[in-house]
Amino acid sequence: MLAISAAPAHAQDSTKQAPLKIVASFSILGDFVKNVGGDRVEVTTLVGPDSDVHVYSPTPADAGKMAAAKLLIVNGLGLEGWLPRLLQAAGAKAAIVTATKDIAPLKSGADADPHAWQSVANAEKYVTAIRDALAKADPADAGFFRQNAETYLAKLDALDREVRQAVGRIPENRRKVISTHDAFAYFASQYGIQFIAPLGVSTEAEPSARDIGAIIAQVRAAHIPAVFLEKVGDPRLMRRIAAETGAKIGGTLYSDSLTGEKGDAPTYIDMVRHNIKVLTDALANDP
Ligand SMILES: [Zn+2]
Repeated sequence: MLAISAAPAHAQDSTKQAPLKIVASFSILGDFVKNVGGDRVEVTTLVGPDSDVHVYSPTPADAGKMAAAKLLIVNGLGLEGWLPRLLQAAGAKAAIVTATKDIAPLKSGADADPHAWQSVANAEKYVTAIRDALAKADPADAGFFRQNAETYLAKLDALDREVRQAVGRIPENRRKVISTHDAFAYFASQYGIQFIAPLGVSTEAEPSARDIGAIIAQVRAAHIPAVFLEKVGDPRLMRRIAAETGAKIGGTLYSDSLTGEKGDAPTYIDMVRHNIKVLTDALANDP
């Protein structure tokens, strides 16, 4: 008989189980999950950095990611319109966690506005929902998740204060901007900067010539100081509005996606800091 050196019976005490496999629908959620889950989770995202979650087309590889996942973390509020078809195609068995479940959504017409993460106070609710879902899926690591969440939530608290202070330094009559699509209503209501967008809450529809005309008239009438580009949507439209109104182009705001490691917004905290910096730079001083 061959001698097989078997692992000692108590091996599972010292050897941790494999990390929890999690799929997050888009990059911002993926970042929240990494912060809470640390090395006890293996996170993949469906819509990666620098990609538009509104108009995503799932790939066959996505079905594979879903099949292996224990949890699927989604935003909800109508953001992932492409998800039901993917779930069906993948025959996924992962439990679905809706990270916005404790958030009262703002409305955009008859629909919910999905961009709830743009308020840092809401981001904290996402993190809490993710923490609870991870603890439920992997009770042995619940304490670890709780501790990570606490550390990250403290950073988000500080970030929220930072944004309030930065907005506080912008003269009140200059707290208004144009951005490509309507992604900042939660930011606007939380922090008091007015956003006007030629596209609606999704990037799917093109604005009509009439919509653009109305925006141009509004920028002129309200003396809106700056126009901002986004990674999603068509920059030519914003350049045209800037050219016709004399508003300056204030830079790029990140709304629905993080950037790669070398970009301006590889994490959620970087994204909010970047946005508040470009807003403050463009609005703070009357030229
Ligand atoms: Zn959006």
